[in-house]
Amino acid sequence: MTDRIESFIQSRAGKKILGALGVSTPVELQRYSPQQSSFFSGRLLLGAASDAQLLNAAADIIQASDADVLADASALEQCTALDKTADEGRYNALVFDGSGLKNGLELVQAYRFFHDNIRQLASGGRVILLGRPHLQSANAEQAAAQRALEGLARSLAKELGSRGSTAQLITVADGAENNLGAALRFFLSPKSAYISGQVVKISAADQSGEVDWHKPLAGKTAIVTGASRGIGEAIAETLARDGAKVIGIDVGAMEVDLARVMTRINGIPLVADITAADAGDKIAATAKDAGGVDLIVHNAGVTRDKMLVNMSEQQWQMTLDINLASAQRITAKLLEDGLIRNGGSIVGVSSMNGIAGQRGQTNYAASKAGVIGYVDFMQHDEKLRAHNITVNAVAPGFIETAMTAAIPLFTRMFGRRLNSLSQGGLPVDVAEAIAFFGNPLSRGVNGNTLRICGQSWFGA
Ligand code: NAD
Repeated sequence: MTDRIESFIQSRAGKKILGALGVSTPVELQRYSPQQSSFFSGRLLLGAASDAQLLNAAADIIQASDADVLADASALEQCTALDKTADEGRYNALVFDGSGLKNGLELVQAYRFFHDNIRQLASGGRVILLGRPHLQSANAEQAAAQRALEGLARSLAKELGSRGSTAQLITVADGAENNLGAALRFFLSPKSAYISGQVVKISAADQSGEVDWHKPLAGKTAIVTGASRGIGEAIAETLARDGAKVIGIDVGAMEVDLARVMTRINGIPLVADITAADAGDKIAATAKDAGGVDLIVHNAGVTRDKMLVNMSEQQWQMTLDINLASAQRITAKLLEDGLIRNGGSIVGVSSMNGIAGQRGQTNYAASKAGVIGYVDFMQHDEKLRAHNITVNAVAPGFIETAMTAAIPLFTRMFGRRLNSLSQGGLPVDVAEAIAFFGNPLSRGVNGNTLRICGQSWFGA
């Protein structure tokens, strides 16, 4: 039944009906493959507003890829490392440094760059704007100009999404120029295929060295809760693919599936209910045996949907405990025992519904909004900062898993298309973002909640 309806949607008549409703049919997204020799290949045009402060850092990073790098007149003038002028050909990426913009009228420089070049962006292309955190501006005019870049990035993402292209804004704090690399590589690469219209902030942090693009987590150990299926399985697989040793956790009822996944990736299975009183001790003991961990991913989650008026306290409390409170208890225990290594990462799994709210999901949305609150607060935690440990969250939108397969057919079919890329994401899309947070070169990526939703029409 589902297949028949899906093939109708892909037919000419189906596309016409969806088109009339303003819903376009999707372009197939290119995702990571180990055969790709570098994080980016193809033609990339680099542009800059006057007084660009991030151009040199961006040029260094991009020139270390397989990109054929061209530059607009302003970028050529401001960066001696660039020598190739923009031409009439197609581009696979447009990168614009707007960090020097000081007031609203100067934004016309961004307008000109995109107006002149956006038609040449190939489908599946990338647009990246670079700016400064607006609240760190010298005055209100500059703050307005820097914040304006966000509106531009999000709107470009909406204009480009039907061609499978994405657009983001990366804001780089003063002194964090050397921390830009991991984010720029990630958002230019196929690993970020299902992320669009996002703002990612980079702050100053200690980090050094080189990281292999294909094995960024070599030598690292990661804990993943709810690892036996769905998004958790993809997270475990992706972290292992990137070189990490994975400790996968799930409940007793999922023991066989957990063992299957862990055997496949040479990981360590740990059967535990994360809400149990002894869960923290059990997880800490396994982490200790592994010599500490570098990454903890709080993926386990449940829905217990009911209108609030019909929801039992047990349904409320169980959802809040699994999705929110137990993750905090486990993190606190690992930190208390010093089991999260210096330069480590804590990652929460929120949800688009935690941002937008959802009818029948007061418990779920509250728990997932709580995850964001936890990240917002903990990014400033002195103990974490002292150990260079970051805290971030992903907020998935419509991801094709058992959880979304349980949504009634028609809601599901429309639900997966209500975003700029007109399709549901894959579990691996969430996993790639988590691997990006865990990358040793992402120490400046702290306090972000990154939506993995193809720029869903809801919530932001
Ligand atoms: P899923 O139901 O397929 O997997 C969840 C896993 O968590 C299961 O293996 C389950 O056994 C485990 N788990 C549940 N309670 C547990 C407990 N008390 N202790 C240990 N493990 C427990 O769900 P999914 O779709 O893969 O979602 C994974 C995460 O992503 C969840 O936090 C979910 O809220 C979030 N999310 C999913 C979507 C989506 O579209 N699928 C969207 C937004 C957010």
